[in-house]
Amino acid sequence: MPLCWLNSKEGLHEPIQLPHWHTVVLGRGPETTIKDKKCSRQQVELRAECNKGYVKVKQLGTNPSSIDSSVIGKGIEVKLKPGQLLHIVNELYPYTIQFKEDLSGEQRGVKRPREPVPLHKETSGQATRPITTKNYEKDNSVLPECQTEASKKDGGNHWNQGLKVSMQDPKMQVYKDKTVVVIKDKYPKARYHWLVLPWQSIPNLKSLRKEHCDLVRHMHKIGEQMVCQCPDSDSLSFRMGYHAIPSMSHVHLHVISQDFDSPCLKNKKHWNSFTTDYFVESKDVLQMLESNGGVSVKEGTSELLKLPLRCHICQKELSTIPALKEHLKTHF
Ligand code: AMP
Ligand code: ZN
Repeated sequence: MPLCWLNSKEGLHEPIQLPHWHTVVLGRGPETTIKDKKCSRQQVELRAECNKGYVKVKQLGTNPSSIDSSVIGKGIEVKLKPGQLLHIVNELYPYTIQFKEDLSGEQRGVKRPREPVPLHKETSGQATRPITTKNYEKDNSVLPECQTEASKKDGGNHWNQGLKVSMQDPKMQVYKDKTVVVIKDKYPKARYHWLVLPWQSIPNLKSLRKEHCDLVRHMHKIGEQMVCQCPDSDSLSFRMGYHAIPSMSHVHLHVISQDFDSPCLKNKKHWNSFTTDYFVESKDVLQMLESNGGVSVKEGTSELLKLPLRCHICQKELSTIPALKEHLKTHF
């Protein structure tokens, strides 16, 4: 497999190797020699996919990183291909990538991580269902009145218990193993919207403890696999995370494409729950569990749902949901 190198166009430093499928975080610091305070220490996350010939770039910092002249957007992941120019921040610090054959036959000193296991293979002793996105469609059968009072009863259960019903329903399941199940969100807020749920009964994010680290890591891995096998993963970016204050019982990881092209996305609350810090990155949850043994939700988090509507890609403010949806078409 070829090796991937990140080259500073300005020759600020020697090329940086991006090992296959490893996450490399770059920003202000000795590695890049960037001293600019506008550049976060963790400005971009890079992951080379050497077999595919591109690098996935996620903007972590607040100020814009861009590829050619398109701003990436905080929390968004896009592809960087050879020939394209990555500006680390504010159209400054240009970089390109280059794939070169590994003549040594082995990446010296770099341990290669395993590639994700294709989901159609057995991943546990228990029967594993194959994943298919072929049948995945926007759930247009969902009435425009998604989650209104009229629909807040589900099989005799209180409406907020609905996930417990859906996770047991083979028609909703797209993957399962002995630890988790993945279902299609019944009211998807984007073209692809899955929920990863553990079989173990855990009410919400706040109930997670250090002993759940392996479980949360597994949920994350399965989320990544859902993205990998998605037929549109080349053209769409995805985020994985939890709502800080969920409405539905039973902890669930959202895996959602960033087009937000769905009739079920209807109001400011929906929008802000996926595009502000109300959406807590899966990796951050894992980090909090590992270092603090629990997940804390900041005071005032519920206020984030009232923020003005802002495009998650270019930060433009829009006054209504229809205006926002119209604006999103310019990006997709
Ligand atoms: P939250 O609790 O805010 O993290 O979000 C719950 C998610 O579950 C939303 O995206 C809903 O569209 C989805 N949802 C609500 N009821 C059901 C159900 N019965 N089956 C599957 N998904 C559901
Ligand atoms: Zn925009």
